[in-house]
Order: sequence, then structure tokens, then C-alpha cells
Amino acid sequence: MNSRIWLSSPHMGGNELSYIQEAFDTNWIAPLGPNVTGFEGDLKAFLNTQKEVAALASGTAAIHLGLILAGVTAGDEVICQSMTFSASANPILYQGATPIFVDSEPETWNMCPKHLEVAIKDSIAKGKKPKAIIPVHLYGMPAKMEEISAIATKYEIALIEDAAEALGSTYKGKNCGTFGEYAALSFNGNKIITTSGGGAIVCNDEEAKKKAVFLATQARDDAPHYQHSEIGYNYRMSNIVAGIGRGQMEVLSKHISLRRSMQAFYKDVFKNVAGVTVFEEPNDDYFSNHWLSCITIDPKEAGFTREDLRLALWEDNIESRPLWKPMHLQPIFEKYPYYGSNVCETLFENGLCLPSGSNLTTQEKERIAQVIAAFLG
Ligand SMILES: *Cc1c(COP(=O)(O)O)cnc(C)c1O
Repeated sequence: MNSRIWLSSPHMGGNELSYIQEAFDTNWIAPLGPNVTGFEGDLKAFLNTQKEVAALASGTAAIHLGLILAGVTAGDEVICQSMTFSASANPILYQGATPIFVDSEPETWNMCPKHLEVAIKDSIAKGKKPKAIIPVHLYGMPAKMEEISAIATKYEIALIEDAAEALGSTYKGKNCGTFGEYAALSFNGNKIITTSGGGAIVCNDEEAKKKAVFLATQARDDAPHYQHSEIGYNYRMSNIVAGIGRGQMEVLSKHISLRRSMQAFYKDVFKNVAGVTVFEEPNDDYFSNHWLSCITIDPKEAGFTREDLRLALWEDNIESRPLWKPMHLQPIFEKYPYYGSNVCETLFENGLCLPSGSNLTTQEKERIAQVIAAFLG
């Protein structure tokens, strides 16, 4: 059997262990320390922003804290992109709030500004203005942030940006993760850089960051004993894990070019194939890190389905995966309102994510190209 080719696997840069060694040497084995502070500084510099970054245990924790800081409580409504990973929406339920799902538009596959505004107007007409909006930059592709931000501003609703897949992506030259009042980054094992597990919240200023860190470290009041007047969470990043992050930041730019070259590779592989479209930026305003390379298949034109191709790849031990199944189709979320047509449903039906790691070798790429060529006949 051929060795497994993964969709997206961890790719260490080389210096991660020296940051971890330093943590051991100085006994900073705790959820704070020089690596945590250093990693936050590296992220802030990379994002080229005046905003502040707090390193957390996960991207999910970042979205949860964003909702809490935006004042979302039980009974509130929160608008969320339907086509996404469940971690964008689960924290809405942690707060006892109600998710309202919105369709994607076909250009970026992200939150459709038109359906977003319809959903807001409808909620207001029913007497309840949504408390927050969660757009996502799927597979690294920036959402239509200008339109979405304008709507958030017009209706005075907090924007919580899920940039978990989009570190290094930009829209009109501005980094994903710097548009929202709060933004979530993720460093899970399959992301463009990984700390094994981890995340970060981007906040508008030092005060907001302080509040995020306060909540992430059990909400201890200023007292000599343990005193609490708010619900706290254990959401801070470990100084060991942050050491991996510091090493990964040294190779982030290289990883972005390599991921982008994987997308170029698939454009070449499918260049003369009718009915197959490789996902790409709609125009020069968008710069995607191409965390995952994706295609859509029109079965009528192509003569095969995305399942046919997925299974052919799997036969050769090559992992690929359907696009995110929309949240409004998930058993846990299907009872909540949905605004849209069927853009994300069609994408789910016909879309496939292909192996996209920055660590794929020339031989592995050749194997992928050969299996696809053989499948296409
Ligand atoms: C990975 C991911 C998250 C969650 O991040 P974790 O660090 O795994 O908790 C949230 N949203 C999206 C879109 C993701 O891809």
C-alpha cells in the first residue's frame, strides 16, 4: 500500500524545539511566560496592526470569548455563516444564544452580504436586533469584508471574525483577523501553522485584551485570596505550546507561498478538464493563503461526481474531503433559522478539498497528478 497523503498535516520549521528547550531551562512550564508573550508579539507584528493579540488554548475559545466580550448572553441572537466548521457556531450555544444561519455568495464561498441584511432586518422586525455577526474566511479566502463591515456598522452589531483558516490572507491589503471587533485565529494540527492545538483572539485595544486574558484565566478579582465575581474560563495558551508557535512564525511566510503553489499545481492539473473549477480569488482585492485547495465539479459537464473523484483518490491512499457541510443541515443546528438560497448546499454537494500541505514532496505531487490523470482517463 502506498503511504498516506494527508489533506493538511503539521509542518515544523525546525526551531520549535529550541523555544521549548528554553521554556524547560527557565522553568516556564505554565500558561504564561516568555513564549506566550513572544508569540503574541510575533502575531501582532505579522498582522501589521495596532490591535492586540491574546494567545489562547484554541480558536474555539477565541470565538467564545469574543461572544462574551460582545455581551452575548442567553436568549440573544447571533448571525453566523452557515457554511463553516461547527466551531464557528458552537460557542453561540455555549452562551445559550440562538444562531441564525446565513448562506454564502458564490465568489468567495463566505457570508452573503445580501442575505445577511435580510436576516438582520427580519430579526429587527420581530423585535430583536442580533448581538453579533460571525463571518468566516473559508479555506483562507477573505469574505466580502467591506460590505459585511458596512452592514455591521449600519446596524451597530458587533463583528466577530472567524479567521481560523486565514492567517496570512488579505483583503484590499489588510490582514484577515483585523477587521472584526474581535477575531479568532487557530493553530490546530491541520492549520497553516500549528502549535498542536491553540488559538488567539485579536482585540481592538489593550483594555479589551486585558479583559479577554482575565476571562481566560479564571476571572480572578484583584485580591490576595481567590475572589471571583464573574464566570471564568481556563482558556490561556501554555508556554510550551507557544514555543511551537514561535518556531512556526519563522516559517509562516514560506508556508503561505507553498500552500499557494499547491493551488497553482491543481490549476495546472485541471486546466483542460471540463466541469472542474479550481477555487480562486475573484479579483486582486483578495489574497488567499490557500490553506486548502478546493475544486467544484459540475457532474453534468464533467461526467463524474466529487464522490467518484474522492473515492479514486482514496483507492490510492490519498486523502481528500467534501467541503464543509452547512450548519443549517446539521442535526444539532437544523432547528435554527436560515436565510439564503442554495449556494452553500450546492457547494457542499459538488465541492472537494484536495491535499494542500506545505510539506508535500515532489514525488507526492506527482502521485496525486498521476492518480487524477488515470481517473480522468
Ligand atoms: C479550526 C477552525 C476553528 C476552531 O479552531 P480550534 O483551534 O480547532 O478550536 C474555528 N473555525 C474554523 C472555520 C476553523 O477552521
